[in-house]
Amino acid sequence: MANQKFGKILFTEEQIANRAKEIAAQIDKDFEGEEVILLCTLKGSILWIGDIMKNLTVKTKLDFISASSYGASKTSSGVVKIKFDPEINMYNANIIVVEDIVDTGNTLKYVLGKLEERGPKCVKVCTMLNKEARRTNDFHADYVGFEIDDLFVIGYGLDFDQKYRDLPYISYLEEDDVDSL
Ligand code: 5GP
Repeated sequence: MANQKFGKILFTEEQIANRAKEIAAQIDKDFEGEEVILLCTLKGSILWIGDIMKNLTVKTKLDFISASSYGASKTSSGVVKIKFDPEINMYNANIIVVEDIVDTGNTLKYVLGKLEERGPKCVKVCTMLNKEARRTNDFHADYVGFEIDDLFVIGYGLDFDQKYRDLPYISYLEEDDVDSL
């Protein structure tokens, strides 16, 4: 197992896989007979979107978007930048933005505003993790893997300074950990 030093497991691979199946079933129901465009937010959502996508039976297309308000730190800079824009035609399409984690909601609120400019039929958000208590705006995710407390989580795609994305489970960092990284 990669990076064994983080033994604190918040959610196991199995828990994540099972929750992804439940959410995929819900998306199948909501979009029965329709096609959806899955928009993977880079880089943290790469494992989660795989779990969702492989369990869907509705027709899907895939594209990527990269938006960021965090650098090598654990707190949001508050300024959102789109670093990679999807090329796919979104006009009149069902878009599901697949996100790793929603914290303040700043990033998603900005991204959704940009996507709406492309005239989609609808835009939904499917996030692996949600820190509802940290929200600073009215952003609401449509599909949530797990609600979590105000922890800094890593693993299963999520990084600290670009590291630990390879953990096959979701872990979290505490103050003492940061000193030893
Ligand atoms: P927001 O704009 O909602 O405050 O932040 C969203 C982005 O911040 C996420 O997509 C993720 O990249 C990063 N982020 C927020 N909370 C965490 C966390 O606990 N761990 C990690 N690794 N990234 C986080």
